[in-house]
Amino acid sequence: MTYQLYINGGFRAAFSGKTYSVHNPSDNSVMAEVALAGKADADAAIDAAREAFDNGAWRNFSREERSMCLKKLSDKITELTPLLVELEAKNSGSTVRKSKEDVFLSAKCLNVYSKYALKELNEDLADVSKAGMSRNVVRYEPLGVVAAIIPWNFPLKMAVWKLGPALAAGNTVVLKVAPDTPLSVLELAKHISDCGFPAGVINVITGDAETGDAMTSSLKVDKVAFTGSTEVGKKVMMSAAGTLKKITLELGGKSANIVLDDADFSIAVDGVLYGIFYHSGQCCEAGSRLLLHEKIYDAFLEKLVERTKRLKIGDAMEKSTEVGPLVSKKQQERVLRYIELGKSEGAKVLTGGGVPAGFEAGCYIEPTVFEVADNKSRLAQEEIFGPVLVVIKVKDDADAVRVANESIYGLGGAVWSQSDERAMNVASQLRTGTVWINEYHLLSERAVFGGYKQSGIGREFGVEGLKEYMEAKHIHIDEARTRDKKPWYNTVVSPA
Ligand code: NAD
Ligand code: MN
Repeated sequence: MTYQLYINGGFRAAFSGKTYSVHNPSDNSVMAEVALAGKADADAAIDAAREAFDNGAWRNFSREERSMCLKKLSDKITELTPLLVELEAKNSGSTVRKSKEDVFLSAKCLNVYSKYALKELNEDLADVSKAGMSRNVVRYEPLGVVAAIIPWNFPLKMAVWKLGPALAAGNTVVLKVAPDTPLSVLELAKHISDCGFPAGVINVITGDAETGDAMTSSLKVDKVAFTGSTEVGKKVMMSAAGTLKKITLELGGKSANIVLDDADFSIAVDGVLYGIFYHSGQCCEAGSRLLLHEKIYDAFLEKLVERTKRLKIGDAMEKSTEVGPLVSKKQQERVLRYIELGKSEGAKVLTGGGVPAGFEAGCYIEPTVFEVADNKSRLAQEEIFGPVLVVIKVKDDADAVRVANESIYGLGGAVWSQSDERAMNVASQLRTGTVWINEYHLLSERAVFGGYKQSGIGREFGVEGLKEYMEAKHIHIDEARTRDKKPWYNTVVSPA
């Protein structure tokens, strides 16, 4: 299989002629050769998006026309489900069960944005000046060219999370997929033209830091929408500063999963498992710190460790698999280094802590639970992005809040309690963008998602998320008409 870059409505090789191989992390076999985009390709894609924006091809479509294109792309994802599920599972190590859900949710996401595309956001402001003096309108207009840069943990979902709002708002897009996981998005790109998008409205390229930097620094790009590590997020912000681009950054986390002493074990134990081991912990909002109330500490941990040991590790394509491989050798090695660091810091391994026996060919890590004495340890502070849970004992609700907030991050988190009021009291004190009460991971296109502190800037989803892809413009229309009614004649300009 070979895949090329999708630029200006067609597929072509990279200018350099370079390609690279992408792998299946379940067994490290080679899946496909993919064109490797460099700076010149990024520039070509940006030029195409710039032209498509400036010539009005997309911007001047009616809302209904834009909505229709998004709906067709959503329907196309649904139609291609079996192929996309297979590509996601094989190329990213996302279990087939999760991949099915991701493809379904990707179609749903574009469907939601096909409706957002129809939304009237413009406002007529009342009482800005004396009645009859002026009419004031706030209009929301597209920004122009959006550079979208996405990670490998949810290849298709991350793509539509950017494409949906950017396109609904009337922008054109250059989307750079993550180097390890380009296949599902490039497969979908084959159908973009058929869905009615004019050439250049959506462009899909590959590449890594150099290509990404060509996008974030370009004078022709108006906004960067980035999801990835906090470390790279800082570089993106610096690079975008050169031309003062608008940015939204969805970055890392070290979210606290807080289990209070009145939690219902029959759901909280599995809730904690789901919070951290879903997609082998490769989620920005993963509940990677378990803050456990001292009264239930031993009893809860015993159940949790026992359940963790029973999780079924396996090939991502196997229906019975609960925990698949990590995305790549590089990530596997990184997580193994963190496990060694934890041990050297004196943290105690309660289960896991290595590569599972019999799975040496792939990029696997055993679901691992560490007991950590100090929330200030590196293991408790740094984003590991793997199936590694750190458990910290807390004295009471106030202590849980204090420890949860003792982090440079603030993306997600949860509270498990049978009292909604008590949980709500804790939730409202957490300095984090999303809090679940007796739940984890569930997001909605209708509710804001994003980070406090170093977990990001800006929000995705909801009307707030859509406005991140728009400029707001105030138009003041004079209604005084005659010279004598205009108040400015009384200040600077002398009456005639
Ligand atoms: P990354 O942040 O390097 O990559 C994210 C995206 O940014 C990719 O498309 C990448 O090609 C691009 N990129 C890299 N350098 C860039 C630059 N200088 N300018 C513009 N774009 C650039 O993530 P990674 O290296 O694949 O993973 C490393 C760690 O990042 C993980 O272990 C994890 O801790 C974290 N991470 C977090 C998320 C998240 O959703 N919050 C996602 C992926 C990775
Ligand atoms: Mn990187």
